[in-house]
Amino acid sequence: MIKLDGRATSQSIRQEIAAEVKKLQEKGGKTPHLVAVLVGSNGASQTYVKAKVRDCEEVGFVSDVVRLSETITEAELLQEVQRLNADAAVDGFIVQLPLPRHIDEQKVLMAIDPAKDVDGFHPENLGKMALNLPSYLPATPMGILDLMDRYNIETGGKHCVVVGRSHIVGLPISILMGRNGYPGNATVTLTHSRTTNLPELLRSADIIIAALGKPHFVTADMVKEGAVLIDVGTTRVVDKSKKSGHRLVGDIDYEKAASKAAYITPVPGGVGPMTRVSLLKNTLLAARHK
Ligand code: NAP
Repeated sequence: MIKLDGRATSQSIRQEIAAEVKKLQEKGGKTPHLVAVLVGSNGASQTYVKAKVRDCEEVGFVSDVVRLSETITEAELLQEVQRLNADAAVDGFIVQLPLPRHIDEQKVLMAIDPAKDVDGFHPENLGKMALNLPSYLPATPMGILDLMDRYNIETGGKHCVVVGRSHIVGLPISILMGRNGYPGNATVTLTHSRTTNLPELLRSADIIIAALGKPHFVTADMVKEGAVLIDVGTTRVVDKSKKSGHRLVGDIDYEKAASKAAYITPVPGGVGPMTRVSLLKNTLLAARHK
């Protein structure tokens, strides 16, 4: 069994990005500039944005956080998006989700200039992705593809079962795994809460991508010998033995399933760090496009 080390892999990608930034600067090019828009004071969102700013600093990007009040109106937020769309200094920006209930998330995401949509959530980018055209890929699916690529995992002709159909993970990764390219060319089964024969489907999978958010949902008896196991799930569970009082648990029962797998991602330290570095990759791409 080979552990797919997202920490080490993302660290080498970061070093590559930092080297690219230096090269860009030496040639008199622009330093990539990412802006994160943070509405309200959701604790998890603040943590994510802080991590994104730290990541930017590490690779030499410029980054800003636009902090907006929880009570901002939808029209005011849309105005802010338009301001960032028009700001030539900004290469890419993200609006941290979730937004307060009174704001229509889809409306806000649709207002972002697709050329600056480094989260890859705009329908134009998702549509291009589906057509296998160059686009910003959503961060988690991109991170999964990069991890497979760096470990030279064969995907062509394999049966890939994706569990979960969210717009940010399950749906896009199922399209990407089935596209004509590498990683890709897999025969994909996209499953969800209404799927009736899931254990049976999982047992026939060469590659399982679990993204449903249910701790240890995929058990060893659902896994075929030699399968590739990609665990996207991160559920916080109480753990008094930890200083923080909690730990992150994946959707796959790692301890028991690992012995049957050819490759497996740990949680934490697998898909998570790869997701973070993907935003940096998209921002570098956005700066290069300029
Ligand atoms: P989500 O929006 O929470 O949706 C969950 C999906 O799982 C839905 O499509 C749902 O089906 C499906 N599902 C729920 N119960 C199921 C069951 N018993 N059998 C089969 N399918 C079932 O998903 P998400 O936002 O993609 O998040 C999924 C997990 O990944 C969460 O733990 C999240 O924290 C984690 N995550 C991690 C990263 C990372 O970087 N590591 C990034 C994003 C998300 P229906 O559509 O039928 O309801």
